[in-house]
Amino acid sequence: MFSKILIANRGEIACRIIRTARRLGIRTVAVYSDADAGALHVELADEAFRIGAASASESYLSAERILAAALRSGAQAIHPGYGFLSENAEFAESVEAAGLAFIGPSAAAIRAMGLKDAAKALMEQSGVPVVPGYHGDNQDAAFLAEQAAGIGFPVLIKARAGGGGKGMRRVDQPEDFGPALDAARREAEAAFGDGAVLIEKYLQRPRHIEIQVFGDSHGNVVHLFERDCSLQRRHQKVIEEAPAPGMTAEMREAMGEAAVRAAQAIGYQGAGTVEFIVDVTSGLWPDKFFFMEMNTRLQVEHPVTEAITGIDLVEWQLRVANGEPLPLKQSELSIDGWAFEARVYAEDPARGFLPSTGTLSHLSFPNDDTRIDAGVRQGDRISPYYDPMIAKLVVHAPIRAAALARLTAALGNSHIGGVANNLDFLARLSRQPDFLSGYPDTGLIDREVDGLTTVKVPGETALTLAAVLSLGALRSPPPGDPWVSLGHWQHWGQPTRIVTVDHAGERHALRVAARGLDLFAVHIGNRVVPVRIFGRFDGGCHAEVDGRQSRMQRIETPHGFTLLVGGSAYDFHVPDSLDGEAESAAGTDRLVAPMPGLVKLVRVREGDHVSKGDALIVMEAMKMELTLPASRDGLVESLFVAEGDQTAEGTVLLSLKPEEA
Ligand code: ADP
Repeated sequence: MFSKILIANRGEIACRIIRTARRLGIRTVAVYSDADAGALHVELADEAFRIGAASASESYLSAERILAAALRSGAQAIHPGYGFLSENAEFAESVEAAGLAFIGPSAAAIRAMGLKDAAKALMEQSGVPVVPGYHGDNQDAAFLAEQAAGIGFPVLIKARAGGGGKGMRRVDQPEDFGPALDAARREAEAAFGDGAVLIEKYLQRPRHIEIQVFGDSHGNVVHLFERDCSLQRRHQKVIEEAPAPGMTAEMREAMGEAAVRAAQAIGYQGAGTVEFIVDVTSGLWPDKFFFMEMNTRLQVEHPVTEAITGIDLVEWQLRVANGEPLPLKQSELSIDGWAFEARVYAEDPARGFLPSTGTLSHLSFPNDDTRIDAGVRQGDRISPYYDPMIAKLVVHAPIRAAALARLTAALGNSHIGGVANNLDFLARLSRQPDFLSGYPDTGLIDREVDGLTTVKVPGETALTLAAVLSLGALRSPPPGDPWVSLGHWQHWGQPTRIVTVDHAGERHALRVAARGLDLFAVHIGNRVVPVRIFGRFDGGCHAEVDGRQSRMQRIETPHGFTLLVGGSAYDFHVPDSLDGEAESAAGTDRLVAPMPGLVKLVRVREGDHVSKGDALIVMEAMKMELTLPASRDGLVESLFVAEGDQTAEGTVLLSLKPEEA
């Protein structure tokens, strides 16, 4: 076996690879960009080398620098993880040319699957069913429109070099085809430098079911069953599970065989995933699954396969790259129980899943047998440079319902402070009725998105507790002096105070009266709610609100705190009584960058009249476009940025002044 490997990646996957390497007694070498000098993967590795500036193109995408670090460290092999250079055939080649092992398939296998059109043609020849459509060379617009009509609408235009859902357009009727083709080509050209497309029949309410395959250098190929990744948003996976609900032995065998055939057709070695789209209009049938693409690397969602097979896929990758045969034969593989994975992201579901950056002021996960694959620790920053994933939660249980209940519980027992996150969205999704009953499909999240993302309004208990908490009720009173627990109240000589907290832009003013040691009366509407605080622990306490007991936690955030109570998380903003007025006035007069990014378009000039809601500036941040509107009518007083400027979070972009009367 290798004695030292370099991991050409960062975040959770780098940490996860290090874990297996360490167990096998292999030394690990990390590489890092300037943004990651203090990152978890660097801390966990035995050695670490700086490879460049924060932007991926100058660090994790630089084959040359990574190779130089590998040679300097004396590593014998490179594990590329997923993303970055993992599916870059030239990189695989240069690793081998430098005399090191690439922990992945051959460059030829990566190339064979690199373009969707060529891969589909190859699969067709190998007898693997493919989605009906056109995947030839002719890229003439009129010809493609004819093909689309022949396939029958709706169709899906896909970039042949596509990935991550880019360059994809669904077209429902012939007259929309031309513009959609132009848009898909433009997007593909910008993202991949290749505007060529293929046309596919668009399947209604399909499922995404993929097969994990493994090959070795001795000609053996096995499959490790399926994963269902139908819960997607913008063609990106959100929650994955294994096995697939409703799967029959017959269908599993047919899909497994097709996937093995696909891998054999390209002499595949190492871990790979063959993705199929499944037409489930009349259930799961062996003649209703179609090859979409093959990913020639380890997949983000590989842990669900590990959970149900008991196999460490990274260990298998290392063994295969080392020239060993696959440890098990197909007949020795079996499925045990059910597993789910949820991807926890720094993003704000209530604001269109806008990626969020900032410091993780709090990060805690359940302390049970939930598997947590995280690449960050409490106190780390989620930067705008890379994918904003915080962690993956993986649960396993004997049956699906139990595993799903564990997922819901694990999400409820995970807490994140400092950045917006999708924990609550994932928890709601884990309780969604169609998903619960085993009928996920790729359109489910889109159809249900409102119910999954609306901000939960705090009820009487949450508001009452927020009011008491913002008065410092978590601090223990010293024995013998009941008034000290009330902090500055006593100092002011007032037994009652008005407390103001904001939640989702809504202001709540509550009158709180002290009734004794840890006893309060909170006036809410025309009710008076008695509250008793007791059983304090680090960061939280127990409380009786109107005679009902709850356990609550308070997590500090930059502008207030997050209250965790009754399985829900509420973000409260505590307005500063002194500069509250000034702040809100400034907020309306100035347009501020909500995150670090690039100023893409400036739609106004100084002196322009604008109306509330007008688009002022378009920013590009974390691969997304963000239009910033005017918060009120007025005149553009000053512009502080120009198109092409990079701005930090909180930068004032422009100021507005009232129209002169
Ligand atoms: P990418 O490589 O950009 O991720 P894929 O070809 O893997 O693109 O497709 C991504 C997702 O798009 C699939 O998981 C599925 O949800 C949807 N999709 C792809 N092809 C079709 C199709 N023919 N009909 C309906 N949905 C599709």
